[in-house]
Amino acid sequence: MPWRASAARSSGSEPADVQEDTVSQSSHLLPEVQAHYGRVRNYVDGDFQESRSPRSLPVVNPATGGEIATVPLSTRGETAEAIAAAQAAFPEWRETPPNLRVQPLFRLKALIEKHYEELARIVTQEHGKVIDEARGSVRRLVDNLDFACGIPSLLMGEYLEDGAAPGIDEESIRQPLGVFAGIVPFNFPAMVPFWFWPNAVACGNTYVVKPSEQVPITQSRIFEIIDEAGFPPGVINMVHGDREVAEVLLEDPRVKGISFVGSTPVSRIIYETAARHGKRVQCQGGAKNFLTVMPDANLAAVVPNIISSCYGNSGQRCLAGAVLLLVGDAGDEVARQVVEGARRLRVGNGLDETSQMGPVAAKRHHERILGMIDAGVREGAELVLDGRGVRVPGGEAGFFIGPTVFDRCTPEMTIIREEIFGPVISMIRVRDLDEAIAVANGSRFGNASSIYTTSGKSAREYKVRVQGGNIGINIGVPAPMAYFNFGGMKESFFGDLHAQGRDGINFFTERKVVITRWV
Ligand code: NAD
Repeated sequence: MPWRASAARSSGSEPADVQEDTVSQSSHLLPEVQAHYGRVRNYVDGDFQESRSPRSLPVVNPATGGEIATVPLSTRGETAEAIAAAQAAFPEWRETPPNLRVQPLFRLKALIEKHYEELARIVTQEHGKVIDEARGSVRRLVDNLDFACGIPSLLMGEYLEDGAAPGIDEESIRQPLGVFAGIVPFNFPAMVPFWFWPNAVACGNTYVVKPSEQVPITQSRIFEIIDEAGFPPGVINMVHGDREVAEVLLEDPRVKGISFVGSTPVSRIIYETAARHGKRVQCQGGAKNFLTVMPDANLAAVVPNIISSCYGNSGQRCLAGAVLLLVGDAGDEVARQVVEGARRLRVGNGLDETSQMGPVAAKRHHERILGMIDAGVREGAELVLDGRGVRVPGGEAGFFIGPTVFDRCTPEMTIIREEIFGPVISMIRVRDLDEAIAVANGSRFGNASSIYTTSGKSAREYKVRVQGGNIGINIGVPAPMAYFNFGGMKESFFGDLHAQGRDGINFFTERKVVITRWV
């Protein structure tokens, strides 16, 4: 592809002060992306289609503030056409043997690996995250394909001879349901749709993806690759748009189930609407993740892990650490080292291999995060590192915020109660482990939580008592691999069957019990 320029490798990865030298803007790439994706297209029934909608939005590179493409906000009618294509493809696809259904997924995996670097570079240009993080997200996409390729053995049913009575056997079988749809967020443009659709399709269903309207280019390129992988037309479709597209997916009776990932308020709407229309629904919502640092923690290993948890992806990860609970007298030293580590992070354009933190993904997020920092100051938290006004040469119109740290926070402050989804750490001093667990469990969110300790007893206590779906022990981003379920509790998850792993298989199949007597 024309924009596949080789990545300029840095000679060293030493942390440095917020970068003063000229950032490599790689601006020569942008017109090429733009030329290719002037206005991104839908993919319906095995064909790329220009949307007929008069409504559209600009897609902006957050490192430069420059427009790189346009996304149509597709119409209700276009969404219904995608559902119709998926519905029409279903009867033949569900009768395709499972070992044949996964063949295009194997081909897709090989193709994605071939285009790995190119996809990572597109992710960085439309989302802003640094190139290594973008590469990692494409790697996770491939992990999900790996899992889906192995689904045939997980689809096998159960059988019990004389299970009901002598001569009466009992079995359970799994069957696909029909059309499923995924509505996904902006923060992982490549990976998140792959938590769902490969499993759905391997189980024999057909699918419609609605990418985030903020980051539509990555999926548009991925669907070109999907097109090469050779799925039958209609098995996998994509419609660009906003809530109007989502609403049709939620209301149309031909859609049997919805997977959603996004903010908590929208999760709640999706969950209620989908349930009202009789659909299966799994909704992964927002987060506020607490990291507890015990006095016995090995700080040399822990501090870099905290920094990467909280500032990776500029804090825009649903598993990102957001609040540090510093236990006991050791808190002062932990706080000092965290601030020192944060101060040294190199902020810059994500395409520059030496950048350690990119911009946040959009102007409106930038404004919201600055508003949150103002709220922290107003409510009396101690701003010990202020990322506002960070200077990135060449990125003056970009959406940069430097690493920010608040100390001496209290649980009732807005910056502790609300999701910030940006590069801001808030620290709370607590007496002991019991108080740390009480503060963490006081949050309405329950996505992830981690403890740093060298004590097995403290780790066990935390693992058992903390209300979070993904728990880390000396791990700041406890991201489940594709064969484990992706947890989430309280207002971070609405539904019962989670994404990935066996829950994913259960979500995408109907379990039927058959009792047989031959007379
Ligand atoms: P968002 O809720 O604004 O949007 C998510 C999707 O919903 C988008 O595709 C959007 O077009 C659509 N949407 C928005 N409003 C809608 C409405 N009223 N009706 C129907 N659809 C609507 O989320 P976002 O800003 O794109 O993503 C960030 C959020 O996602 C954060 O809160 C983050 O914590 C969360 N997130 C959670 C997880 C998880 O696993 N729990 C993972 C990633 C992101």
